[in-house]
Amino acid sequence: MADRITVAGVSVDARHWIGGARVASAEKFTDHSPIDGGVLGEVARGGPAEAEAAVAAARAAFPAWAATSRTERARLLHAIADGVEKRLDELAIVETTDNGALLRSHRRGVMPRVAHNFRFFADWLLTLEHDDFDTRGHTNHVSWDPAGPCVLITPWNAPLMLASWKVAPALAAGDTVVLKPAEWSPLTASMLADIAAEAGLPAGVLNVVQGYGAEVGDALTSHPDVRRISFTGSVPTARHIAASAAANLTPLSLELGGKSPLLVFADADLDLAVGLAVEQYDNAGQVCLAATRILVEEPVAEEFTRRFVERAGQLTQGDPRDRATDIGPTIHPRQLEKIDGFVRRAVGAGARAVVGGHRKDGQYYTPTLLTDVAQDSEIVQEEVFGPVLTLQTFADEDEAVRLANGTRFGLAATLATGDPERAERVTARLVAGTVWVNCFFVRDLRAPFGGSRQSGTGREGGTWSFDFYCDLKNTVTAP
Ligand code: NAD
Repeated sequence: MADRITVAGVSVDARHWIGGARVASAEKFTDHSPIDGGVLGEVARGGPAEAEAAVAAARAAFPAWAATSRTERARLLHAIADGVEKRLDELAIVETTDNGALLRSHRRGVMPRVAHNFRFFADWLLTLEHDDFDTRGHTNHVSWDPAGPCVLITPWNAPLMLASWKVAPALAAGDTVVLKPAEWSPLTASMLADIAAEAGLPAGVLNVVQGYGAEVGDALTSHPDVRRISFTGSVPTARHIAASAAANLTPLSLELGGKSPLLVFADADLDLAVGLAVEQYDNAGQVCLAATRILVEEPVAEEFTRRFVERAGQLTQGDPRDRATDIGPTIHPRQLEKIDGFVRRAVGAGARAVVGGHRKDGQYYTPTLLTDVAQDSEIVQEEVFGPVLTLQTFADEDEAVRLANGTRFGLAATLATGDPERAERVTARLVAGTVWVNCFFVRDLRAPFGGSRQSGTGREGGTWSFDFYCDLKNTVTAP
């Protein structure tokens, strides 16, 4: 059937999901698997007409959904989580085939977490308080009102996880949604539409449109009827979306790129620090939070590098469906070119590849560590979004902080130190939305998540998500 794509026996509808119905487009785009570059099938390619239809469906569904009780909204979100858990293996293999991330991570970590995200926001909704307080006998009553149709735009590196961080709180808040997944990994968003419909979500509450950012994405983010735009992706796209949002004064949440540091102090458990550093190759380095700049205190730099080279040499790169694989492919030939270009220019400027530094067959790039890099060089300043790390050394805390803060980003930072007081001192001076001390990637949805500087605006998680997706109202009543 032309409208469906079959992946490892799982049949996925490749049309849009608008107003509770599947909608085809005259135009299509081809979806490839990064594992071998093979064609998976043809996906509907939306444009302004599909954007208009999806926003209209979200607008039409909004009044009834906003009026639905919190307990009923929470029940439906739990039903979606049940559906994700029921189809966990199918979602895992489809997403691995579509974006190349490890199957074992999808099965064990990512997809269970997607279900958890729906449960979390369902439960958090029920804890939101309506503050009441008194002003000279008048009562102030603060309420969290649903805002309206939201446009949610997501990237390809963690498609369903990132979608769930937006879709779940938006629906919980009583908003209706138009989700546009990335064109390089469109499939699991379509499965989410089916799961939500099976869970009983009313038509038009969640819509999924497929297509290119510059086409349907642009039409969605410049639509005047949209009340919130939440975007995760790159800085250049964010600039474009922010300009569209400015024209309509649409509130905007931006989760963008990073160039996060890993600071290794001489008092650190060196094996732990090396483990944290090697972990940055996960998902072939295509992780916004990745600590791609390793900063090591001079006395331990040589020993750290020796152990790192040894550990990196033990990594297995290959088919992400194999249990033994640690690092899969890059998402797209264009991404591979970009990564290779960064490394070649860095080496041309004097950097030394002590690990990797070259492409392999297909869309695979070797895990790479570059030393002899200058703080103001492109490879240190720009996000590569591939398995490429740099190593610099520092003499003392002041220099460590200066290097760590010395980019235009501020998404995250990781510290390896055996001294809790140093951890506290250094953390206080770092510009970062999240700081991990002797750990990495631990994310609790009750905590705020987001970036400083050009890594984004706003925070997601817990009440911060509801702050964004709700119109807060204060009602003052006379005695
Ligand atoms: P991208 O900006 O190219 O695309 C992201 C999404 O925006 C896609 O769905 C794309 O179709 C859409 N888009 C593109 N142009 C658009 C336009 N003009 N109007 C509306 N939508 C448009 O980013 P990418 O390459 O898919 O993702 C990688 C980037 O995402 C990296 O910079 C990474 O750091 C960042 N990222 C950030 C986080 C975070 O939480 N901070 C998480 C994951 C990824």
